[in-house]
Amino acid sequence: MPQRYFCTTALPYVNASPHLGFVLELVQTDAYARFLRLKGHKVYYLTGADENSLKNVLTAKEKGLPVQEFVNQNAERFRHLKEAFHLSYDDFIRTTEERHKKGVLKLWQKIFDQGDIYKKNYEGLYCIGCEAFYKENELINGFCPEHKNTKPIVVKEENYFFKLSRYQKEIEQIIANDKIKIVPEFRKNEILNFIKQGLEDFSISRSQERAGNWGIRVPNDENQIIYVWFDALTNYISALGYGENSSLFTQWWEEGEVIHFIGKGISRFHAIYWPAMLLSAGLPLPQTIFIHGYLTITGEKISKSQGAIIDPFELVKTYDPEVIRYFLLREFSPFEDGDFSFNRLNERYTSDLSLGLGNLISRIMSLGDNYHRAINLASNSLAVENFEGQTLMSHLQNKLQNYDQAFYEFRFNDAVASLWELVSLLDKYITFTKPWVKIEQAETVLANLVLILVEIIYHLQPIMPEISRRVLEDLQLGAVVDRTYDKQTIFLKKISPLFPRRDK
Ligand SMILES: [Zn+2]
Repeated sequence: MPQRYFCTTALPYVNASPHLGFVLELVQTDAYARFLRLKGHKVYYLTGADENSLKNVLTAKEKGLPVQEFVNQNAERFRHLKEAFHLSYDDFIRTTEERHKKGVLKLWQKIFDQGDIYKKNYEGLYCIGCEAFYKENELINGFCPEHKNTKPIVVKEENYFFKLSRYQKEIEQIIANDKIKIVPEFRKNEILNFIKQGLEDFSISRSQERAGNWGIRVPNDENQIIYVWFDALTNYISALGYGENSSLFTQWWEEGEVIHFIGKGISRFHAIYWPAMLLSAGLPLPQTIFIHGYLTITGEKISKSQGAIIDPFELVKTYDPEVIRYFLLREFSPFEDGDFSFNRLNERYTSDLSLGLGNLISRIMSLGDNYHRAINLASNSLAVENFEGQTLMSHLQNKLQNYDQAFYEFRFNDAVASLWELVSLLDKYITFTKPWVKIEQAETVLANLVLILVEIIYHLQPIMPEISRRVLEDLQLGAVVDRTYDKQTIFLKKISPLFPRRDK
């Protein structure tokens, strides 16, 4: 049954240029969204920019720019990731937009009307990097667990609070029963453990002064600015026109299945605070929260506030963006931290792409060019031919089943690996059948090769959309939307290497 899926990334602060860690999240979300579309589902993919953070105010000040001008510039850079990495998102929301402000104010009012917002004096340890309060025992030698060089500072003021404590039991059950499914399982356990320690009400406003006079004002209180996380989380519904009673909100949030893609550092906000806010406002909850690990460079977290940086825009000057997409999805566990290394990138490029898929395609095209150019796909059937103990058809079906299952479980690396098992299978099949010797069988062998190759390329679309399109064009198959290509005759001719060797 075709369904509607609403896929979102977290909103990055735009106080610096994008880093590769965020590109990982965009690419994972993009691959998943494209996979769902391939399966016939309808998808709305949202990303954007968090512009109301104090960090933006501070960095703008350092640069001597008005805050709005500064965030305009940087939001543009984030927007350009779309072309740079062939992303297919449908909407890019900026939290300084009017539609967002309307959504935040409406949500605040709903929660206020439920009696879940009150004012009190508060003193706590605040990390500006995280825009969050920490308890003493959560710090590591006095430093923020997410920012090794930042000491949270004591903040004391009168703020508005959200009655999170009221939702403790409900949230615990929702997470425990997978009503909101947390992927992977070990993150679910972390969140449950955190909930069991007791949920305290949290502050959802800042004094105007401490917020740098930047952000969305609390209704009917000129001196308070809405806390940037309350503000930012609301983007998931404000982008759909929640504040303006848009039909998008009904279609995608109320009737669709919602999947949030986030990094491990902000799981608490998404799996606890956000669902509680939605419960209070009487709104539907997201169905799934996928939590990825961090990318490191020789062990250092890649982030804007710390040293190790690979500029994504520089990277795609040296490597095809689709090669980077491939590497990010194939090389790393989607759930654990991964260490980015150029050595591994080059190794993968050579073994998987140049000598793997690229070489296979060249071989098939050349064999066709040499021995049998016109291949009638209809007169051949994968169900008949046996190879290595099974029919080619059952080899294919097994691998594609693994691919589907891996994708649905967000195991991007395993999904890609299933396709490459088919690449090796075809390599072996060519060596075994030797169509250059048994020329009378060349058409049958080539038809089998092409039928499986096209399935590989078809399923490669979520991972390498542009390269898949080019290969399908070389096979004169265009975009294989309905997979009726097996009725066609196609013509094979030599092509230049898809992934030229970089190490020569
Ligand atoms: Zn921090």
